[in-house]
Amino acid sequence: MGIATHAKYFAPPAIDAAGRRNLIGLSQDELLEAITALGLEKFRAKQLWSWIYFHGVTDFENMTTLAKPVREKLAAHFMLERPTVTQDQKSEDGTRKWLLKMVDGQEIEAVHIPEIDRGALCVSSQVGCTLTCRFCHTGTQRLVRNLEASEIVMQVMLARDKLKEWPSTKDDRLLSNIVLMGMGEPLFNYENVAKAAKIIMNGDGIAISKRKITLSTSGVVPMIERCGNELDINLAVSLHAVTDELRDQIVPINRMYPIKELLKACREYPGISNARRVTFEYVMLKDVNDSPVDAKHLVKLLRGIPAKINLIPFNPWPGAPFECSDWKTIQKFGDIVNEAGYASPVRMPRGRDIMAACGQLKSQSIRLSSAERAAIDKIIAEKELSQGLEISRA
Ligand code: SAH
Ligand code: SF4
Repeated sequence: MGIATHAKYFAPPAIDAAGRRNLIGLSQDELLEAITALGLEKFRAKQLWSWIYFHGVTDFENMTTLAKPVREKLAAHFMLERPTVTQDQKSEDGTRKWLLKMVDGQEIEAVHIPEIDRGALCVSSQVGCTLTCRFCHTGTQRLVRNLEASEIVMQVMLARDKLKEWPSTKDDRLLSNIVLMGMGEPLFNYENVAKAAKIIMNGDGIAISKRKITLSTSGVVPMIERCGNELDINLAVSLHAVTDELRDQIVPINRMYPIKELLKACREYPGISNARRVTFEYVMLKDVNDSPVDAKHLVKLLRGIPAKINLIPFNPWPGAPFECSDWKTIQKFGDIVNEAGYASPVRMPRGRDIMAACGQLKSQSIRLSSAERAAIDKIIAEKELSQGLEISRA
């Protein structure tokens, strides 16, 4: 069986009906280019960056250090639109899930997981996922496209809006960390993820440091080193099985990049040390990968790699072909891992009641009406025409 590695659809251009371009998601150089093309002075780019990403302003009118004619000119050509929130759900444990509609009608989910004085935002990198890990709801979504850098950055900006955490200087932020663990495989959309990460990390704007950003991959081995070299962010790897035989079945990308190659890439991850470990995620599936023998094999496998282990109780979804391991089994597995020197290995599920926990995300965008579907096809066809692209659509 072949493994689809590329999303088939493209995002539509971020231009509204009036021809205004969304500035969110432009790199510093692109922003400079965009405003000098309008005949504005270069230093305006720095001011704009600060208004957009440090203050979180959504209306040019509120950019008080800019003269009125400059604001008017900007507003005539650009916008700072956020995605439309189509659902805003709060779990009993405080976890919040936003269903966000992109300009082409596609939907993605972003999840905020609060702690006492901090919190993580779980960000999506694709609409759906081309991979089909057997235990993951996202992997059952048919329509898949990469998110643009702007669509990734906008999830963070939207969360900051909702949590009222502008400007970026605010202490004790509820949005202190970012985990690229939402919908999609981030290393199959590396260019956009990298561009977004650079914007999010920029100290003059959103300013979330690289130490507080974690990218989770199912194991796209050839991209791991590049991610470490260029972004220097934390790495998490979805291991979930200790033999190729089982991993081939439940994490199909293993057929391309088996465990040995994956662990080699982890061992060589740039910047890895005992102070900065790779996190190995391991979903607890009843009678599949949860025996004491598996636990012992796991710690043996990771020997020599500065690692953290996260045991994730399987989060069920309608029609899922697995059950979560019993609590006793998870504890026993956890004890073995713990005795091998890994502290607090079990990750307690958050937001299960609103289907916001790991692997439960699946947007409703596959349920498109035929009119919506036709509209998307039209946008894609136009894009194909304008770029001379040939896009296969299964
Ligand atoms: N595609 C990336 C990131 C998104 S998934 C990856 O696979 O790593 C984030 C994490 O949730 C991964 O470790 C994934 O394996 C895990 N996961 C997926 N489905 C799950 C489920 N139903 N229960 C628990 N964890 C799950
Ligand atoms: Fe995709 Fe990750 Fe889900 Fe696998 S676990 S299908 S890679 S989102």
